[in-house]
Amino acid sequence: MANVRVDIDALKNALSITLVAERLGHQVVRGKFRCPYAMRHAHGDRTPSVSISESRGIFNCWVCPDVHGDVIKLVEISKNLDFKGAVNWLQNEFGMPQSFDLAAQSVTPDLQNGEASPLIKVVHKTPEPEIDPILRTKIILAFFEMLSPVEGSPAAPWLVKRRIFKKTWEKMRLRFITDYDKVNRELLNRFGLEVLQKAGLFNDNGNLRYYKHRLLFPYLDSKVIPRFFQARSIEPDTQPKELNLRGQVPFPFHVSLLNGEPGWIYLCEGCVDTLTMIDRGFPAVGIPGVKSFKFEWANLFKNKRVIVCLDQDEAGRAGARLVLEMLQKAGVEASLYGEGITVEGFQMSEGQDINSWFGGKK
Ligand SMILES: [Zn+2]
Repeated sequence: MANVRVDIDALKNALSITLVAERLGHQVVRGKFRCPYAMRHAHGDRTPSVSISESRGIFNCWVCPDVHGDVIKLVEISKNLDFKGAVNWLQNEFGMPQSFDLAAQSVTPDLQNGEASPLIKVVHKTPEPEIDPILRTKIILAFFEMLSPVEGSPAAPWLVKRRIFKKTWEKMRLRFITDYDKVNRELLNRFGLEVLQKAGLFNDNGNLRYYKHRLLFPYLDSKVIPRFFQARSIEPDTQPKELNLRGQVPFPFHVSLLNGEPGWIYLCEGCVDTLTMIDRGFPAVGIPGVKSFKFEWANLFKNKRVIVCLDQDEAGRAGARLVLEMLQKAGVEASLYGEGITVEGFQMSEGQDINSWFGGKK
């Protein structure tokens, strides 16, 4: 029953235990709620005894030895269901997988950085955008026009080291923030702080967010207009390495390849891996992180044969299976890289990503 196991893990990975607890009627305050067996506690557990670890996806009552476990166990206890009943409840309640919004579209600002985060929220309806999307696009476009080409910037040797060469950084319109202060000032003069913050470019301190993340990967639409971007630090010690523009990711990176014509697509994780593949001549499309694929994107892959090649680690493999399932549900022919499929006869080994596999140096 290996497949069932996988689906359960995917389900658990995709759910926020806090949101599930709330849906079950528990009042979660600062990561705690009242024990479902309140009668066992003094004063009906007025001071909540159950703690949630959102990052680990588990809960624990400090009094009851039998009240602890994962999100499924939480449903079992709260609804008095068995394991299967709890899984069914979760699937019905959270609409697996159609209503999953696994994008980095998170609730708290520190999750906006595009790094794999366990704090994935299930979002039932898309929140109203705070800014007119046309204005947002206009700001992104103006921002990119203020930036320098990669050629001659410190990003050029950085990219070459990762085996991403000039033809690719030009084709994909990569840019670099050479004069941060000037870009910061020009944007402020032109649009004003409030709008720039709403558009997700400026932080609460009133500055452009990309002081350390100066290499910009634009998400170009079919008319080569940047509609979203990821920013990358080329300094070795910056954490996180990448910073997304806040807000919705409108489509995968290099979406122009998804043109409805028959052909192969390699679906990669992160812009660097995708660019490495593109540089080698592979038709590669990227998603910001393993958990950022959206079900509605599956239709974009119509007529393509997709090879999902996410990182060869635990998170990458779990994410890849979820993406695969969404593509297949949409009727797209898709397979996992590594399961009988190798690119040009090579196999990635444990812990590798596309870039390191092609000889890129970190
Ligand atoms: Zn208890």
